[in-house]
Amino acid sequence: MSILAVNGGEKVRKELFPAYRVIGQEEQQAVAKVLESGILSKYLGCWAEDFYGGPQVQALEQEWAKFYGVKHAISVNSATSALYCAAGAVGLEPGDEVIVSPYTMCASATAPLIYNAVPVFADIEYDYYCLDPEDIERKITDKTKAIVVVDILGQPYDADKINEIARKYGLYVIEDNAQGPLATYQGKYAGTLGDIGVFSLNYHKHIHCGEGGIMVTDDDELAERMRLIRNHAEAVVENKGVTNLNNMIGFNFRMTEIEAAITREQLKKLKWLVEERRRNVCYLEENLKDISFLAMPKIREGCEHSYYVHAMKYDEKQTGVPRQRFVEAMQAELMPIELREAEGVKISLGYLKPLYTQPLFARKRAYGNTAYPFSESVNYDLGICPTCERICNSETIFHELMRPFMTREDLDDVILAFHKVAEHLDELK
Ligand SMILES: *Cc1c(COP(=O)(O)O)cnc(C)c1O
Repeated sequence: MSILAVNGGEKVRKELFPAYRVIGQEEQQAVAKVLESGILSKYLGCWAEDFYGGPQVQALEQEWAKFYGVKHAISVNSATSALYCAAGAVGLEPGDEVIVSPYTMCASATAPLIYNAVPVFADIEYDYYCLDPEDIERKITDKTKAIVVVDILGQPYDADKINEIARKYGLYVIEDNAQGPLATYQGKYAGTLGDIGVFSLNYHKHIHCGEGGIMVTDDDELAERMRLIRNHAEAVVENKGVTNLNNMIGFNFRMTEIEAAITREQLKKLKWLVEERRRNVCYLEENLKDISFLAMPKIREGCEHSYYVHAMKYDEKQTGVPRQRFVEAMQAELMPIELREAEGVKISLGYLKPLYTQPLFARKRAYGNTAYPFSESVNYDLGICPTCERICNSETIFHELMRPFMTREDLDDVILAFHKVAEHLDELK
């Protein structure tokens, strides 16, 4: 008779896991006040007093800058938009190269293309999944202008080494910290380690306002260029007296007063939400350590992780069971998270493909039916980032069953499912 649920046995967990319900009365009241005010956005896309947005937007930016200890925080309507602003602000020119990670959400790698610059992929670190400083240095050419580092899964990039390389070659560091709010590197917040840091406020992130993003920087000029790109630079520069027109094609990336009001309340909850993830991970790891074929995530020395996902490494050689089969068995034992039922049980194989295998890169088609701006020499062939390929193909298991609002009993079900499947691997062979 079969024991495992994937073979028809009884599931460990029969109810949904609790929703990640971070929006409460505080946000409801804040939104109600904005609605009462009648001002849902106060931006003007020309050089006037309201060029910088309304009261909620400006208050949020001040609070965010203070919280993170930076000079400027600038809100936009998504982290993707924030990456576009950052790419424009650093002055990318057509044909410039930008070193990016193949192991991330697509926007961190596509942002340079908006300004006709060319993404060049460097490999990632086996232990931490962040860009590998040695491979970055190998990929630098005389066209390289910037590096987009990603604090992937909630782990800070190797800031000492990569910032040093950037200084040596005169490159900008754009830090995509969409996944790592409150992760720290030698006591400093991730997101504040590069020249520009980018945060996401989309529904899947630690805190959210529906859709939104923030850029931070200590550099006055980069900050002003990002504010221009956010709000119709082309219609503003003349009256404002801007002389550097490089990349001053503006967009409308403005955040509304409603989203800003929500984000102000969310920021107050961020510390607790990240600490709760850390406590849950600690409890899970304590109770999974006897499963020898699962390796828990490593944390870079001097860093604190913020666990956007909890990524384990699975040793297929030891179990003799394919990773996919193991994950299917785990999914069968468990249940989805309430409000995210359509996404299925939140345990998966992780990122499955390096970004350079996507058609945009593999076929070099971005603008019209031409290869522009991809040069002949840029290489997106399989094999360019072997560590990334190995991790995508065979080793990681991601799960999100450590989110806040999971109780001890909920976590115990997750632990029980891992042990149950581990003890009945024979059924999967
Ligand atoms: C979510 C995410 C983004 C994009 O964020 P949006 O706010 O959805 O545009 C960018 N980079 C990484 C690493 C992300 O996880």
